Amino acid sequence: MENKVLNYGVGTKVIMKKPHPCGTNLWEITRTGADIKIKCINCGRTVLIPRIEFNKKLKKIVEEEENKWKIRKN
Ligand SMILES: [Zn+2]
Repeated sequence: MENKVLNYGVGTKVIMKKPHPCGTNLWEITRTGADIKIKCINCGRTVLIPRIEFNKKLKKIVEEEENKWKIRKN
């Protein structure tokens, strides 16, 4: 595994490897610490995951991708 620093905080939108049962796979981080709390953008359900688990289940950080697109457009 690569030792990549994941840069996220409260308000960061993330996509997980497994979507929520409601069909949406876009989450917002509402709390960070030893446990990460994420909120489903669609239904508002919150899930608390230990940081290690979160890092494993995280697929990508949306804002980072959006910034890349913004840079490309300019
Ligand atoms: Zn949901």
